[in-house]
Amino acid sequence: MKRKAPTKQAPARKPAKKAGKARNSSSYAPASNPHSTDVFEQLAVHRHEQVSYWYDPTSGYRGIIGIHNTSLGPALGGTRFWHYVSDADALNDVLRLSRGMTYKAAVAGLNLGGGKAVIIGDPSTNHREAIFRAHGRHVESMAGRYITAEDVGTSPGDMALVLKETSHVVGLQGRSGDPSPVTAWGTFRAMQACLKFLTGSDDVGGKTVAVQGVGHVGYYFCKLLHEHGAQLIVTDVDGGRTKRAATEFNAKVVGTDAIYGVKADVFAPCALGAVINDDTLKALRAQIVCGAANNQLAEERHGDELERRGIVYAPDYVANAGGLINVNAEIEGWSLERSHQKAGEIYETVLRVLEIARDEGIPSYRAADRLGEERVAEAERVKGLPHRI
Ligand code: NAD
Repeated sequence: MKRKAPTKQAPARKPAKKAGKARNSSSYAPASNPHSTDVFEQLAVHRHEQVSYWYDPTSGYRGIIGIHNTSLGPALGGTRFWHYVSDADALNDVLRLSRGMTYKAAVAGLNLGGGKAVIIGDPSTNHREAIFRAHGRHVESMAGRYITAEDVGTSPGDMALVLKETSHVVGLQGRSGDPSPVTAWGTFRAMQACLKFLTGSDDVGGKTVAVQGVGHVGYYFCKLLHEHGAQLIVTDVDGGRTKRAATEFNAKVVGTDAIYGVKADVFAPCALGAVINDDTLKALRAQIVCGAANNQLAEERHGDELERRGIVYAPDYVANAGGLINVNAEIEGWSLERSHQKAGEIYETVLRVLEIARDEGIPSYRAADRLGEERVAEAERVKGLPHRI
């Protein structure tokens, strides 16, 4: 079956071309002209609080920090290092990504706002110390309104360099650690909620789950499913990983294109973005789509189509919020058990989202956005802040 080559979560080199239609980690990025150089127009359209530019002549560092909303708390979001083709593309990326973080944190029930940073340049550079220290000074200048972490093109090692200049950084080695087990647990709970909503029972025993990608999250997700008696069908471009899943979890292995059309109760994207698209929808037989991957819908209309076909979709940023919950533990001083418990609450959140969708006759991705907006609006009201969301 032919399908569009999906991407993981790395930004496209030329994101501007499709920006009007492309769906991001959340569905709420309003259409705007991504080439606009009118920064205030961009802030107004995306409803942002603040954008900060920083240039460091010694290292050549050029960074942008976008703060979308701090009504719930300090804006948290990773730093993306990418060779953007233009400054306008970098600005557009930081605006859409920081906006997505507001929704993700709000729906997850965290006291965090939405922010993100981008560094424009070659992410494979060896001159990391000068660049990330400059970035650390940039983050420090925000005086705690923005907390950074790793993202595409950056690593925990880079964040250790940021730490030399600011304490407003999380996801450090030796602290909250690998987020994948917590993310997998949250995604598992999201899947249980989808089953409960669809069948009245959240028992995964005897259910067949098709897992696309058995990497960091996919592996732990499969482990949980296997322990709870589910049958697994898996795929991965890495044969070693599928072999491990077959050996440890008795998973059936299929080709990367075959995974969409297998007979399964759940399709769980745990690898790439944009995997729910025109081509894959034709093949899809599962009644539930629930996985950890970011940006699962190629476009919003694909979420509408899932809804039209009665397929229960756990919005990606709700299902995979365990990663954010895990780094939030560093800020709150939570134990691993507390993070685990919080990620487990994704079950109730997904159920709530699906109930809103059903009651209001809207697709689940829109219901999730609505839930996030309600929580931010309530914080704005209680704190007497201007209404932004
Ligand atoms: P990973 O790189 O460890 O795993 C991804 C797996 O997908 C790899 O095994 C890779 O070989 C496989 N893969 C790549 N292309 C494929 C294809 N065409 N078909 C099938 N498999 C393919 O990444 P991860 O950390 O497990 O994250 C998986 C997804 O979940 C990503 O979209 C990520 O953004 C998202 N996510 C992860 C976390 C986390 O805690 N790690 C948190 C939130 C969201």
